[in-house]
Amino acid sequence: MSGTDTIFALSTARGRSAIAVIRVSGPNAAGALEALAPRVRAQPRVATLAKLRDPASGEAIDDALVLWFPAPRSETGEDVVELQVHGGRAVIAGVLDALATLPGFRPAEPGEFTKRAFLNGKVDLTAAEGLLDLVEAETAAQRRQALRQMEGGLARLYEDWRTRLVRALAHLEAEIDFADEDLPGGVAARALGELRVLGGEIRGHLDDRRRGELLREGLSVAILGAPNVGKSSLLNALTRRETAIVSSIAGTTRDIVEARLDLGGYPILLADTAGLREVAEGGDPIEREGVRRALARAEQADLKLLVFEAGRAPDPATAAMTGPDSILIANKADLLAAPTAPAGAMLVSATTGQGLDALRARMLAEAETRLEAGGSPAITRARHRSALLECVASLERAEGAGSPELVAEDVRLAARALGRITGRVEVDDLLDVIFREFCIGK
Ligand code: GDP
Repeated sequence: MSGTDTIFALSTARGRSAIAVIRVSGPNAAGALEALAPRVRAQPRVATLAKLRDPASGEAIDDALVLWFPAPRSETGEDVVELQVHGGRAVIAGVLDALATLPGFRPAEPGEFTKRAFLNGKVDLTAAEGLLDLVEAETAAQRRQALRQMEGGLARLYEDWRTRLVRALAHLEAEIDFADEDLPGGVAARALGELRVLGGEIRGHLDDRRRGELLREGLSVAILGAPNVGKSSLLNALTRRETAIVSSIAGTTRDIVEARLDLGGYPILLADTAGLREVAEGGDPIEREGVRRALARAEQADLKLLVFEAGRAPDPATAAMTGPDSILIANKADLLAAPTAPAGAMLVSATTGQGLDALRARMLAEAETRLEAGGSPAITRARHRSALLECVASLERAEGAGSPELVAEDVRLAARALGRITGRVEVDDLLDVIFREFCIGK
């Protein structure tokens, strides 16, 4: 990427739409207006109606709204022009083709607008990631978390910790540099105390059961149980659409069928698995593989729905999986003469819908305890987690280090690890990894 290119891209979704937004950013951005709408005098940050014309032929392309954001008060911190055109393919193609002919202009790479915003100090890395998550958010809880991160929730937390580390480091270094002189008593001792407190706070932040990451990815819920207890029917009933194939021949669900569910604002990845049963030696190898996958999935799942037939005891394989992360479900309640819930189980019927509201409420409660944002912002990416672990490890080393010089070096490493999360230091190699996740036009 060259910082001197002027980049442009369609920022709205591809395909036909009422309106499409094309963004231009870079030193020659004003040239886009001069070339396509030479008669228009756009005021900064005021929408102006403009006839866009092909600069070569003079042919009209569209009646558009244009916006002019001179640097540095723009999304990227550079000069930015935003063209709001009618969202027809030929209109968009006409504008993009015209822009491509202008000197110093080229199409933007994925994430390049946000990357420039970062490089110009408009956003830190966590805010950029929050912006990406906001675009990707499918449920209300995901949106809340992303918006909070985009608005600096995580950046403030990490920058505050880093500032405190740097301050402690300064005190330690003062003690080293002026060892012979009169410093207020116990400067280094107080710095070490502060490091212990900080280490505790960061460990507390890390000990979050991955709620922020789970919220981004979706809570993984596996439906498990013997063949024919109604697992596929339950998946369909919960998703209210025909996702899984239901049949009365045992062992039909051979692979894992997944559905995404928005449960009260929380994202759920609901997986139907093959029935848990012994497949005899020499039996159907595909079904055996299905059972193996079901068990593997059960181990990874954040929550297990263990299904058995009401009126019968749960089969041993299903009963064996009962635990704190499971909900025991007695299905086919409609077949019982006197429907009473067996001990510890919820009584439902996938066919009539009986008990499903209660099951949804229970799943929502389980999702809330695992994903709820709570008071402090949560770690949302493995990248943050590994840097925080590195920071804590350095602080622990500092505590055991013999000399003040070694303590100071470990604290420096700890501060650098935190700085990498927001992008304050050593980020060049990280940038491409982070911004690759973005799509073009952002
Ligand atoms: P799976 O093998 O566990 O996925 O079970 P299916 O969902 O394929 O269902 C097996 C059979 O049980 C099908 O004939 C379903 O129609 C039936 N079934 C599923 N749930 C219920 C229920 O709540 N009540 C009744 N009466 N039948 C059900």
